[in-house]
Amino acid sequence: MEQDVYDVIVIGSGPAGCTAAIYAARGGMRTLLIAGVTPGGQLMLTTIVENFPGFPDGIMGPELMDRMREQAERAGAEVIYDEVTGVDLSTYPFVVRTGGQEFRALSIVVATGAASKWLGLESERRLMGRGVSGCATCDAPLFRGAKNMVVVGGGDSAMEYALFCANLAEKVTVVHRRDKLRASRAMQERAFANPKITFVWDSVVEEILGEDRVTGVRVRNLKTGETQVIPCEAVFIAIGHAPATEVFRGWLELDEEGYIVTHDYVKTSVEGVFAAGDVHDKKYRQAVTAAGFGCIAALEAIRFVEGVKLGIVKPRIPASGS
Ligand code: NAP
Repeated sequence: MEQDVYDVIVIGSGPAGCTAAIYAARGGMRTLLIAGVTPGGQLMLTTIVENFPGFPDGIMGPELMDRMREQAERAGAEVIYDEVTGVDLSTYPFVVRTGGQEFRALSIVVATGAASKWLGLESERRLMGRGVSGCATCDAPLFRGAKNMVVVGGGDSAMEYALFCANLAEKVTVVHRRDKLRASRAMQERAFANPKITFVWDSVVEEILGEDRVTGVRVRNLKTGETQVIPCEAVFIAIGHAPATEVFRGWLELDEEGYIVTHDYVKTSVEGVFAAGDVHDKKYRQAVTAAGFGCIAALEAIRFVEGVKLGIVKPRIPASGS
């Protein structure tokens, strides 16, 4: 086989991508990790991470990601800091393009993640990591014992966050822009049944208050125009995520929200292309679950590449992208 063909190309360098690269390289695969121009994924936006096993005193998100990438390199993966601009999955070996280069691979692990959506307020940016967070599961325990935590949004994530926060705070206030939730009935029922959770309907957050830490939110009722200040120690924004799947559109099956559709945990609609982490998992979204999916994807990629090299597996290539 040609010299420039990698066994496994991993796209994305969050916990899923780094773990996939560690496993693939340690499994004897010639592995390329395309880490992105700003590597590390969402943990780069986090301060202390207290729920990643192995760090009883916690670890800063960026340091955890540096270490994971270093571990991938030490395992033998080549790392480049570039963005993937396109793929061609209609030829085999597959083609992966960055701004200036073209790479070929017997197998691809897509671990490009998903970005939280934000309200877009100046105060939200300023107080990020100081009470404002996109992940209650990650950060609410840092505010254990709070008098009030605010959750913004009306979907399943918002309900999950509210229920999680209710175990840690005296009270939780959900601020939603309509008077009906988008969340599944089961999640709605659980949230409505929890006496610690109250709802502020038809309302949007206009400003997050506080100098160097969150002290409250100012919300405006969209129907009456009235504003009120809700004191709180933390605000969790749960208004959806956007998966980074644009370059795969037309090549891989995506769901209506743009997430990669998988079966058997990590297999995509194209044999030999695997998805790991938040790019396909919209339910759990944890660093440790992403790492777990990265491991599974690499093990499946190794098995696939071995099959190709032995002539047992004949990749079925789609006709073309759109
Ligand atoms: P989502 O379902 O898209 O809900 C986003 C919520 O944020 C909606 O209530 C939306 O309001 C609100 N919103 C959007 N933009 C806003 C803005 N600019 N300002 C204020 N509010 C805004 O997102 P999600 O809750 O993250 O869920 C995404 C997917 O993952 C869903 O398919 C969900 O079922 C799934 N999920 C499942 C679980 C579970 O099964 N346990 C947990 C988490 C997520 P509107 O309702 O007015 O549009």
